[in-house]
Amino acid sequence: MIKVAINGYGTIGKRVADAVAAQPDMEVIGVSKTKPSAEAFIANQRGYPLYIAEINRKPLFEEAGIEVAGDVIEMIKQADIVVDATPGGIGVKNKKLYELHDVKAIWQGGEDHEVAGFSFCSSCNYEEAKGRQFTRVVSCNTTGLCRIIHAVDEAFRVKRVRATMVRRGSDPGEVKKGPVDAIVLNPVEIPSHHGPDVQSVLPQINITTMAMIVPTTFMHMHALQMELEKEATKEDIIGIIEAHPRMGLVRGATGIKSTAELKEFAQDMGRQRADLYENCIFADSVGFVGKELFLFQAIHQEADVVVENVDAIRAMMNGAADAATSIQMTNEALGFHA
Ligand code: NAD
Repeated sequence: MIKVAINGYGTIGKRVADAVAAQPDMEVIGVSKTKPSAEAFIANQRGYPLYIAEINRKPLFEEAGIEVAGDVIEMIKQADIVVDATPGGIGVKNKKLYELHDVKAIWQGGEDHEVAGFSFCSSCNYEEAKGRQFTRVVSCNTTGLCRIIHAVDEAFRVKRVRATMVRRGSDPGEVKKGPVDAIVLNPVEIPSHHGPDVQSVLPQINITTMAMIVPTTFMHMHALQMELEKEATKEDIIGIIEAHPRMGLVRGATGIKSTAELKEFAQDMGRQRADLYENCIFADSVGFVGKELFLFQAIHQEADVVVENVDAIRAMMNGAADAATSIQMTNEALGFHA
């Protein structure tokens, strides 16, 4: 069993913990928090040993009725690999700790590529992650872009990508974030960071991205254009999406035309936390003008990177022969088939 520690039990960390716990070849040896919170109670309830960043805060947790197993260093010492899901900019500060204790570590997209020197997306570069000490799983938007761009590039060679990201304002629980009533250009400058971030995984791709933030909490929406080298049809692209283990088609017959309806669908499917791990690509939006492909895809910001973290663990621990094997194991353990 691969012993996994999750440093930072928040939006991403708590999902990674549950996904790891569901795998037949992995176990959660601990999760960490900085202060007592609802999530700390849940960690106790799920039976994940809870470690804290500053041990002098232990009485605060105990007064709240939350059991503490020790400090983060004790957790790291027991782990084969740490998934660092602390907020962006904090994770990089933990690198010295992972080096000191000679433990493997995975960071999230809030950190720069340089933190690990290697950026990961399961269906693009699993092989290169094998045996590594450090890896960064790219952000939710970059993961969604990499999956589809790489799959289309393999079949029809992508000459140029243009993408506009309409991003959620905050995660559902983040009551102090916005906007409440605005469309915010973020950033105003073009390109947004997403294009260069895609190139950290797929350096050969010519891509320019723009992004804005809107008052919603569930999912990002991408308007994506790809100019292809080779002739392709709508049916070819639909076939690629259907065959991909991390992409799903939103068919016209469902009547779904929004992220709100996708959430309802995810809940009705019985997905834990209404999580959609796959790119949700609107079948009726897939179309061509000449060799230029157009489509809309919705990306669940809290979920798509979770399954990527599980595959990154397996690759770094040499736990599966190849990407297809790991992706299938991860998906099956979560009961999800795109
Ligand atoms: P979050 O704020 O929801 O959770 C972070 C957790 O880390 C919190 O539980 C906090 O208590 C804990 N923490 C803070 N400082 C710590 C420390 N020093 N030691 C241990 N724990 C500490 O953040 P998040 O949204 O889960 O984001 C985590 C990372 O994932 C970031 O890099 C972010 O950019 C990336 N990411 C987030 C999303 C998203 O939509 N939320 C999507 C993809 C990637």
